[in-house]
Amino acid sequence: MKNLTYCRIVLLGPPGSGKGTQAQMLSEFTGLKHIASGNLFRDHLRRGTELGTKASKFMEKGLLVPDRITIKMVTEAVLDSSCSSGFMLDGFPRNLAQAESLDDLLQGRNSAADLSLLLVVPEAHLIRRMLNRGRPDDTIDTIKTRLKIFRQETEPLIDYYRDRIQFEEIDGLGDIEEVQLRMRGVLTSSL
Ligand code: ADP
Repeated sequence: MKNLTYCRIVLLGPPGSGKGTQAQMLSEFTGLKHIASGNLFRDHLRRGTELGTKASKFMEKGLLVPDRITIKMVTEAVLDSSCSSGFMLDGFPRNLAQAESLDDLLQGRNSAADLSLLLVVPEAHLIRRMLNRGRPDDTIDTIKTRLKIFRQETEPLIDYYRDRIQFEEIDGLGDIEEVQLRMRGVLTSSL
C-alpha cells in the first residue's frame, strides 16, 4: 500500500458488524472518501428518485438490490473527483459479480484495491446489535435473510481478496472507540 492519504480500501463484514460507523471514523482519520452503498441507496430514497424507489423494494426484504442498479450507482461514486486520492468502500462489493466489476473499473484506470479489512463479529452479537438499531430493515425476518445472503454471497469474497490483495482481519467486539483504535493500528502498520 502507498500511504494513508492515498489508498483504496475494501471493507468487508456482516450486516450489523459496525462497518459503517467504523468507516466514517476511519474516513475522518485518513481523509479518504467513505462510500457506503447502503447510504447511497437511502439518500436516493430520501430524495425520492426512481433508483431509490426501486432499491427500497429489495432493501425492505433484506435482499440484495440487483447488480445492474448497484454497480452503476457505486461506479459513479468511485469515479467522482472526491475519490481521486482513494476511497473506502463499505457495503460494496457484496457478491462476486460486484467484486469483478470493481476490479474492471479500477483496472481500466491502471489501479487496483490496495487493502481489504474484515470486521469479525459473531452472529449472536450481530442480531442483537441490529435489533437495537431499529432501522426499518432491522426486523428479525429481514435480519435473518441478510445474514443468510451474507454467508452465501459475500463471505466468498473473503477468499477472493485474501488471494489477491493485502487482507487483514479485525476483531469487531468491544466498544466503538476500542474497535476504531484496532482498525487504525492495522491500517498504519499495513503501510
Ligand atoms: P447492513 O450492512 O447493515 O446490511 P447497509 O446499509 O450496508 O446495511 O445495506 C442496507 C441494504 O442496502 C442491504 O440489505 C441491501 O438491500 C442494500 N445494499 C447495500 N449494498 C448493496 C450491494 N452492494 N448490493 C446489493 N444491495 C446492497
